[in-house]
Formats: sequence, structure tokens, C-alpha cells
Amino acid sequence: MPEPDFWNNAKRYYDLKSFFINTFGCKVYKLPIDAGFTCPNRDGTAGKGGCIYCDGRFSKLRQIGPLPSVTEQIETGKAFYREKRGAGKFIAYFQTGTNTYAPRDRLKILYDEALSADNVVGISVGTRPDCVPDDIIYLFEEYAKNYHVWLEYGLQSIHDRTLKLINRGHDAKTFLDAVERTANRGINICVHIIIGLPGETKQDIMQTAHTVASLPIQGIKIHLLLALRGTPLGTLYEKGAIGMITKDEYVSTVCDILEILPPEMVIQRLTADGYQDIYLAPDWGTNKMSVLNAIDRELEQRNSWQGNKLVIDNH
Ligand code: SF4
Repeated sequence: MPEPDFWNNAKRYYDLKSFFINTFGCKVYKLPIDAGFTCPNRDGTAGKGGCIYCDGRFSKLRQIGPLPSVTEQIETGKAFYREKRGAGKFIAYFQTGTNTYAPRDRLKILYDEALSADNVVGISVGTRPDCVPDDIIYLFEEYAKNYHVWLEYGLQSIHDRTLKLINRGHDAKTFLDAVERTANRGINICVHIIIGLPGETKQDIMQTAHTVASLPIQGIKIHLLLALRGTPLGTLYEKGAIGMITKDEYVSTVCDILEILPPEMVIQRLTADGYQDIYLAPDWGTNKMSVLNAIDRELEQRNSWQGNKLVIDNH
């Protein structure tokens, strides 16, 4: 498949910045919001203890003290981006915890508050696929009639044995069901996957990528698995029970995944963030720019791009 020109960028994949410029005609930034949500995989509803890589501390803001209101967080974020980068429009990004883990009426109050702010053109809501009952999906469908809406589903792996091992508290079927119930309602779907999960081979990762590539979704975030001190995964790493993926393996796997994704799928992320104070490994993971540059170089060396090896199934 030839390299598409609708990206209007100098990259070899369809990055979020270019997608926003194509969609809105100006720079758009996602403003991270911590609205105080917890997680059903920590309180016993879906599971206990959380995913094995999760530090459970939620946002830095929450650690400091009482959370500012959604409006206050939006205004602080807007001022930061305007000053630093001259942003024009914004998406309110409900990022911390499971951001649909509340009754519909409570959620509506929070999302309405975000969408009432000046120059906020939409919302992006990060959640778990086992936490989106139909009434909440219908709420997003209503918002999507007037706003730009993303629902971000954490999947991490399509393999149930891995989901069990990392204590995700849901299976692949639950994820596929959530995507099916969300699709074709005007809601953009972004799926999060992780590279480097314990016990996974390259083939396992590519199977996850192939499944994601075949779904009616609009975006993907590819994360690097991080070992953080105090998490079950961090403890396994400290004991020498697991190793971490190398930079070369990571870069090569990301490029293999990009090659099989549809060219219109928006690449929202290709690295991961972790708290510096509890960061253990991999040591190269903290230099995000160097990872992104290595991905660019690898695609260039392959003379390849997102979608280059996409298999189109006409049946
Ligand atoms: S779903 Fe998210 S917040 Fe909940 S335990 Fe897993 S990583 Fe942590």
C-alpha cells in the first residue's frame, strides 16, 4: 500500500497532532484531568490489587492534596499550553483511574462541566472495557452529536492468559463486546496495548496488533511496559524473575505493528510515562524522544510506513 498523503505530515505514521490539525484546522491539545475516579480492579468489584504494573497512586495532582475542580484543572491546563505552545482548541482528557466508574448522572455532571469551558471542543475518556454499561455508551453517543468524543479502552493484550497473569480483571471477550457496543455511534475509539508483557512472545504481541487492526476503531496507544517500585511487577523485576524488553526489540516491534495498522488509525502514543521516583526499568524507557527518533529511523531504513503491510480482507 503506498504512503498516504492525507496525513499532511512529515512522519511515516498518522500522529495525533496531524489528525487534530486535519480535523480542526489548528493545534489541539488534550488537557489531562483527574476527576477523582478510582478503579474497579482495585476495590474488589472487578478484582483486587490492580494490574500488576499499576502503582495505584493515580495522578501527581491527587498526591499533593484535595483535587481542584474539573474547571480549575482545565483553566490551568489551557494557560500552560497557550503560554508554551500557542494552542487554539482543547480536548478535556479524563485520564486518571477508570473515568466511567460512577453512575451515569454523576458522569454527566463532570463531562458537562468540562465541555462548558471555552475552546473545549470535545472529551476523551479513559476507561476499562468492563466499565461501560449501555446507558453510559448512549451518553457518549449523545455527546458525539455535538462534540468530538473519544472513548479510550485499556486492552493491553488480546490473550486471556496474559490478562490473567497481569491481573487485568477482564478478558478479551469483554473488550471485544465493549468495542462492538461502542462502534458506529459517532464515538471515536482508542485502544491501549502494552509491549513487553511477561510471558508474551513477539508472535503474541503481533496477534494482539492484528486483532486491533481489524476492529472498527479510530486510534491506538502503544505503551512500553515499565517496572515501577512497589508494584507486583516491579517486585518480580527486582527479584530477577522477569526481564524487560530491549530498546531494539521495542522499536522493531512498534514498527512491525505500525506496518499492519490501517493508515487512517490515529497513533496517539508510542511510548510510556512513569513516575521518576519509583522508576526501575527499562533504563532506556525514560528518554521518550530517543525512542521516538529510533522508531522514525527504523521506518526510514525499512522504507516503510503505517499500513504498508496491511492485509485487506475482501471477504
Ligand atoms: S485498570 Fe488502570 S487504574 Fe485500574 S489497576 Fe489497572 S492500570 Fe491501575
